[in-house]
Amino acid sequence: MQYQSTRNSGISISSAEAIKKGLSDEGGLFVPDSIPALTLDEIEMLKTMNYRGRAEYILSKYLTDFTKEELEHCVNSAYTKEKFETDNIAPCYKLNDNTYFLELWHGPTCAFKDMALQILPHLLTTSMKKTNEHDEVVILVATSGDTGKAALEGFKDVSGTRIIVFYPDNGVSEIQKLQMVTQEGNNVNVCAVRGNFDDAQNGVKRIFTDNEYKDFLAQNHFKLSSANSINWGRLVPQIVYYFSVYADMLCAGEINLGDKINIVVPTGNFGNILASYYAYCMGLPVNRFICASNENNVLTEFINTGVYNKNRQFHTTISPSMDILISSNLERFLYHISDRDDKLISDIMQKLKNDGIYEIESGMMNKIKAKFSAGCSDDEETMTAIKECYEEYGYVMDTHTAVAKSVYDKYVKETGDTTKTVIASTASPFKFNQSVLIALNGNAKVAGKDEFTLLSELSEKSGMKIPASLGELKSKPRIFESVCEKDEMIDIVSDFLQV
Ligand SMILES: *Cc1c(COP(=O)(O)O)cnc(C)c1O
Repeated sequence: MQYQSTRNSGISISSAEAIKKGLSDEGGLFVPDSIPALTLDEIEMLKTMNYRGRAEYILSKYLTDFTKEELEHCVNSAYTKEKFETDNIAPCYKLNDNTYFLELWHGPTCAFKDMALQILPHLLTTSMKKTNEHDEVVILVATSGDTGKAALEGFKDVSGTRIIVFYPDNGVSEIQKLQMVTQEGNNVNVCAVRGNFDDAQNGVKRIFTDNEYKDFLAQNHFKLSSANSINWGRLVPQIVYYFSVYADMLCAGEINLGDKINIVVPTGNFGNILASYYAYCMGLPVNRFICASNENNVLTEFINTGVYNKNRQFHTTISPSMDILISSNLERFLYHISDRDDKLISDIMQKLKNDGIYEIESGMMNKIKAKFSAGCSDDEETMTAIKECYEEYGYVMDTHTAVAKSVYDKYVKETGDTTKTVIASTASPFKFNQSVLIALNGNAKVAGKDEFTLLSELSEKSGMKIPASLGELKSKPRIFESVCEKDEMIDIVSDFLQV
């Protein structure tokens, strides 16, 4: 299988090349040149495998230039019981006869980004070797919270890589900051930047586009790379868990082979829901996809009207990992439903860049409408969803998962659809403990309490154990205390690499 670009179908490169490059030169995203199919018999066979076996099986359909040994190495390095606190890796929780949560947050940073970022470093270093690249990979990340920590945990101590994370000194939560400044590993560096997220992001972009500096690094055998969600190596591991949950539901007798399910995904960059769409195109029986947004509801409007308009107020919400106005992975989806029309995608993306708005024609809209529903939930509705779910079932959701549940409840009210439904649960409630406890106990009982008190209170209320990685933050030494100005970021990189 070869990979082409969404803005140039003529490109044809191996999966290792696509993972190494990340983004195509003309700005397009890499996609497979055909979608592999799984028969129902193959899906049934997944029942007999554990998560690692399922991952190896699905990945082998896409990464056809990787050997069995290489895939085994990547999968076994990523999805271990030690890192995920459960051998199931992505367990399914049955809420009632129609509703199931696919818990994607048992990894080291308590959010679903671990599902991809635990394996990406191994896919990347293997891709480097396969393409005879001997430079060391240097990952640069600007983060507003979740991605930076997940990337640090993924890349720490992976030989042949180094990672530097920049975060805005006043733009992340206390827990997120603690998670980063206490990071362990012999190849990691973390630095706060004076300013906001855009300052950190622009600083990283400037380094990435500084050709002189990149040449200088190349002379010293370093190659810059990013860990963001446009890389195919981050998307492809996400396809696995949709097959895995289906296999788990078969095992538990919740569905019969061939039964269709609904999939609800709390969406930001459109990566997670796109992975479920790939699974469907490969043969996973899906009735409908439900795309859930918070108040930044660009995608709700797009799926309902065909107009994508990012010219709107940006809202800071209690589900911050979905506070996004440009969903970059939507480009891959549009490429597929336009039957790989690279010219159209280039035009659309140019319009988005120039005017912040584009519209798609009815042929594509009909394809979307046939399979997708979309809705949004504001902070108040999201809080109510957390409270009601706890009161009715004793199950505590995080704020992102609650957006999905709230949108799903509205969908059921409108449609009466009783299809068994899997909701992607994307973060541990402990990670967003403050908002979750306000939803459960009210503002007055939360105000003024520190993070660790809140963790204990949430543990009592939910009956769940505090994830070890969060509980131990209190006693961990702070390793990275430095703060830099935004024009000093390049010096931080040079110092770290000792060049
Ligand atoms: C990143 C993230 C999302 C959004 O996922 P996309 O793939 O960007 O749509 C949702 N919830 C949490 C907790 C996240 O970290």
